Amino acid sequence: MSKQYSYSDNDTETLTIDEEVIQIFAASLRGELINPDSPEYEEARTIYNAMIDKRPVLVAKCANVADVIASVNFAREQKMEVSIRSGGHNGPGLALVDEGLVIDLSSMNGVRVDPFSKTARVEGGCTWGDVDHAAHAFGLATVSGVISTTGVGGLTLGGGHGYLTRKFGLTIDNLLSADVVLADGSFVHTNKDKNPDLFWALRGGGGNFGVVTSFEYKLHPIKNVIAGPLFWPIDQVETTMKWYRDWITGKLFTPILLVEHISIL
Ligand SMILES: Cc1cc2nc3c(=O)[nH]c(=O)nc-3n(C[C@H](O)[C@H](O)[C@H](O)COP(=O)(O)OP(=O)(O)OC[C@H]3O[C@@H](n4cnc5c(N)ncnc54)[C@H](O)[C@@H]3O)c2cc1C
Repeated sequence: MSKQYSYSDNDTETLTIDEEVIQIFAASLRGELINPDSPEYEEARTIYNAMIDKRPVLVAKCANVADVIASVNFAREQKMEVSIRSGGHNGPGLALVDEGLVIDLSSMNGVRVDPFSKTARVEGGCTWGDVDHAAHAFGLATVSGVISTTGVGGLTLGGGHGYLTRKFGLTIDNLLSADVVLADGSFVHTNKDKNPDLFWALRGGGGNFGVVTSFEYKLHPIKNVIAGPLFWPIDQVETTMKWYRDWITGKLFTPILLVEHISIL
């Protein structure tokens, strides 16, 4: 008798799946399918927040859009809960799911920069480091997060802000279009004219509307950003805040006044 894996359907029913069914699914993928017996399982269920300890039944390391469609169809047919993983930075660990299928996009990390139209087509598993690296070669950038390892997926779908926000708005203000696999396995393109409701929802509505396989961003001519968090000792709060209040309104021009107390991450 072949091995079976158990999982629950929204905590109401316990279901089982035969290893043969899993093997057929695995053979349909270009990427790897990881189960609790795979040597890669522990790494595949590890995300940024080390307090998260979820145990998926399967992790599909998708290599392309076809793998994403196959994964969505498989989960729907098997009544298996799904999570989508991009950079894995979400604090509560929404990139993972207990007893379900993780659609892991982290291998889908291609970026195509078009320096002539100043746009970039970015696969859904990219980190902001991937995007910045590709766009910087052309002296271009979009509004990314402040840490290079954050994923484009969760940050964009949550709105997104970073060092360029004061000049160019939120990340979603720079989103031009997206490719999405919906829950029925269909593939759609969305922008302000095509499937506009979906486009509106993606721009800040979170990750519940489908799997975004790629994002298209507007780029801006940016060569270097000199920025970073600044930290002062707590006992200097009053002096620092008074100085900052005057400096930000333009009353002072003394950018090096407190330099000896600054440490930059
Ligand atoms: C160190 C650190 C620095 C941060 N800095 C910033 C910052 O500068 N600016 C800012 O705005 N935010 C910042 N954040 C917050 C960050 O944007 C959110 O935690 C975001 O959810 C992380 O996205 P992710 O793709 O890495 O996470 P994940 O955990 O992979 O995904 C987060 C959520 O989005 C969903 N999702 C991810 N990708 C897709 C996709 N392609 N299609 C559909 N759903 C998807 C997931 O299912 C999950 O629900 C930071 C977080 C950390 C931990």
